[in-house]
Amino acid sequence: MKKGDTRNKIKVKNTIVEIDGDEMTRVMWAMVKEKLLMPYLDLKLEYYDLGLKQRDETDDKITFDAANAIKKHGVGVKCATITPNKDRVKEYNLKKEWPSPNGTIRAVLDGTVFRGPILVKNIPPSVRNWTKPILIGRHAYGDVYKNQEIRVPGAGKAEILFTPSDGGQPITHTIHEFKGPGVIQGIHNTDKSISSFAKACFTFALDQKVPLWFATKDTISKTYDARFRQIFQEEFEKNWKKKYEDAGIEYFFTLIDDAVARIMKSQGGMLWACKNYDGDVMSDMLGSAYGSLAMMTSVLVSPEGFFEYEAAHGTVQKHYYKYLKGEKTSSNPMALIFAWTGALKKRGALDKTPEVGEFAHKLEQASLETIEDGIMTGDLLKVATPNPKNKQVYTEDFIDEIADRLAKKMV
Ligand code: NAP
Ligand code: MG
Repeated sequence: MKKGDTRNKIKVKNTIVEIDGDEMTRVMWAMVKEKLLMPYLDLKLEYYDLGLKQRDETDDKITFDAANAIKKHGVGVKCATITPNKDRVKEYNLKKEWPSPNGTIRAVLDGTVFRGPILVKNIPPSVRNWTKPILIGRHAYGDVYKNQEIRVPGAGKAEILFTPSDGGQPITHTIHEFKGPGVIQGIHNTDKSISSFAKACFTFALDQKVPLWFATKDTISKTYDARFRQIFQEEFEKNWKKKYEDAGIEYFFTLIDDAVARIMKSQGGMLWACKNYDGDVMSDMLGSAYGSLAMMTSVLVSPEGFFEYEAAHGTVQKHYYKYLKGEKTSSNPMALIFAWTGALKKRGALDKTPEVGEFAHKLEQASLETIEDGIMTGDLLKVATPNPKNKQVYTEDFIDEIADRLAKKMV
């Protein structure tokens, strides 16, 4: 197909919610759309500008509107956005420190975030036997992230107390009789949140046709961690057992330390559901072992089956300041491209329009081949297998190289 030929564009039947963002990722977002998507697709987009200025002007209403639009249309794709801190309030002259848009969208969709590596032959993972991607699903509620802590000043008795709202008998246990100073922490979770986390994990593993692994430390934490294990097991037996059998995948539970040991020896190829803290730590370990944050996909999946695809990295602020000075940068657009291909594949599957999924596949292949041909951005050159043909290019040139390869596949 010739670029710019409107007659033969691939029709994407239903709407994708497009959520624009900030800084360098916003710049790359526009390039990806212009050079890789619009020449080939007849796309219905519902556009939400979550650039920091727009969020400020709408008192953050636009973030809620965007999240609700995903609920309406089922599929969204999001650019990286600034979560403002004090410096940003000054820089953008904001009314206040607006909360994280990702946090807001996650809360509206009640979703779980799944991440996975984008694999290319010339960027080997640090763990040699990981030949297939390890996907990670992180529970994003409670535990140590919503805790209460006390610095114990000296001797005394620490207790844990629950007072029922219905006036029932309070429950109390002694945590520790302190003989001197120390620390205490109280954490919680809810059946509702654990259950929607479990549903999202079972949904996503089936969607990806990979086994689901889950691990806790329920031999030690016989009530708290045990509740996670129970809820996953009940959910599996009630809603997924048959579907998993039909798909030829399994649900596997083990202890968290055993899971870590097995992951290191595995080939990959599973979805690893992690409690909040485990997921925080393990996703950074995987991201670094697979090469670069710009080589990770990220998708928010709600238990009702809404999907939001995004890049796992931030707005690449330092590169943006260079860009503003008129300098060219070698920022990596791969995670943004894969956010779009993820959304297109999902849209195509829901709409039963395989040609949309095939286009997304070709775009992914063109992107991977560009890197495998040695043409890469600066972050990748640092971790690629050394080869005389490797060369670092600017973002726009990198996207042009992908566009050339894509054009050949689209003939
Ligand atoms: P960042 O944007 O992820 O960038 C941190 C560093 O990682 C960059 O300076 C760059 O290293 C490297 N990097 C990240 N993505 C890259 C890419 N695509 N290509 C090349 N290099 C890349 O994190 P940050 O600078 O800490 O945060 C910037 C803003 O992003 C913050 O305002 C934060 O609120 C926001 N943020 C948004 C999201 C999101 O919406 N998903 C997530 C995290 C952070 P070098 O400078 O060494 O080249
Ligand atoms: Mg972390």
